[in-house]
Amino acid sequence: MHNTETDILIIGGGVTGCALAYGLSRKNHKIVVLDAPSPTNMASRTNVGLIWCQSKFLHLPNYAKWGFISSNLYPELTRELEDLTGEHIDVNYTGGLIPTLSGEDYDNRGAYIDKLREALGEYPGCMIDRTELEKKLPGIAWGPEVCGAAWCEADGLIDPLGLLKVLRLSLPKVDVTYRQTLAYDVQPQNDGGYRVTTKDGIYTAPRVVLAAGLANRRLVQFALPTLPVFPDKGQVLLVERMPFVMPIPVLGCTQTFAGTTIIGFKHERAGHHIEVDPASVATEGTWAMRVWPELGAKRLIRAWAALRVMPEDNMAIYSRLPGHPNVTLFNTHSAVTMAAAHVRLLPDFILGRELPEVARGMTLERFGIAC
Ligand SMILES: Cc1cc2nc3c(=O)[nH]c(=O)nc-3n(C[C@H](O)[C@H](O)[C@H](O)COP(=O)(O)OP(=O)(O)OC[C@H]3O[C@@H](n4cnc5c(N)ncnc54)[C@H](O)[C@@H]3O)c2cc1C
Repeated sequence: MHNTETDILIIGGGVTGCALAYGLSRKNHKIVVLDAPSPTNMASRTNVGLIWCQSKFLHLPNYAKWGFISSNLYPELTRELEDLTGEHIDVNYTGGLIPTLSGEDYDNRGAYIDKLREALGEYPGCMIDRTELEKKLPGIAWGPEVCGAAWCEADGLIDPLGLLKVLRLSLPKVDVTYRQTLAYDVQPQNDGGYRVTTKDGIYTAPRVVLAAGLANRRLVQFALPTLPVFPDKGQVLLVERMPFVMPIPVLGCTQTFAGTTIIGFKHERAGHHIEVDPASVATEGTWAMRVWPELGAKRLIRAWAALRVMPEDNMAIYSRLPGHPNVTLFNTHSAVTMAAAHVRLLPDFILGRELPEVARGMTLERFGIAC
């Protein structure tokens, strides 16, 4: 057992914790990341890797803008991480597509995009017809029902494990310490700092960052009895390798850089269950075969379920804890998409400054919690 003192403790070394640690490393503080070697709470290792901004959050325009901001920051970040670590990251900044299977679906998506454009002031996307879609992805024989797609140039795809790997590899290079250990709890100390008890010792710091995904709900309890975050179940199917024909990612049936295809888009509120429900994934598979019939002739090689970290109103939470201005909390269901914004735009908030203007509504205050 040891006792370690540092400037900033980050609990959670998933994509959020590592992105924040990397971003903070430029600010000249001693940083330790504590990351559980746990098989649970690992959305960072089970996600699709879409950098996805389009066709969402009309009801939360600032959150929609935040996604576009992150997507703009991404290319420079991945270049920087590649230079720093010497590792290549598979990533495509080629836009993204959502196929539509009926005229009604096409019109509804188009109407949504029109409203988004109005709400955001600008929107880098539009509806395209089947001919345009075929031009964009000529290697795919689309199903007969596919009549077009929503297109957005700000979307993309990154290998999510590659992203996590380079973020983690970058940490020692920027003098951040990464420790694999389970944090049991956070306790305020009389000197204004915090003590984090872990499986292998005690860590103390004047500032703590909570980035432990769903486990944040337990870790905040010294300051907040309940955190408005719940597990949101996603289930996916993995189809065997095919020649790579999808340089532009398609939402719902996305070909990975390795040639496999991940099918899945559902959100379910099912507690902590991470069992695959065959009936549920079958509906996703059926949809995917209508979009891309060739998938029906291929073998399924895996299926898995995993839990997203979902704030009750579907927006991110970036917040201080009530009565604890030096403890910041980060929970988002799209932490891959938002990773570049997390690296570049959130470290100052951790160090006591305000959130960027567009993210100011993302604190716990919106749930009636003073912070
Ligand atoms: C099926 C699926 C598909 C998805 N697809 C996408 C996508 O395409 N694009 C996108 O942007 N997002 C996607 N997401 C969401 C994305 O994966 C999550 O937003 C993201 O992983 C959250 O990252 P995180 O680091 O905040 O939390 P997590 O990934 O949950 O990481 C938390 C980390 O904290 C550690 N931890 C937990 N408890 C403790 C503790 N007590 N002490 C120390 N460490 C602890 C865990 O070991 C883990 O490393 C998807 C999610 C799912 C489930």
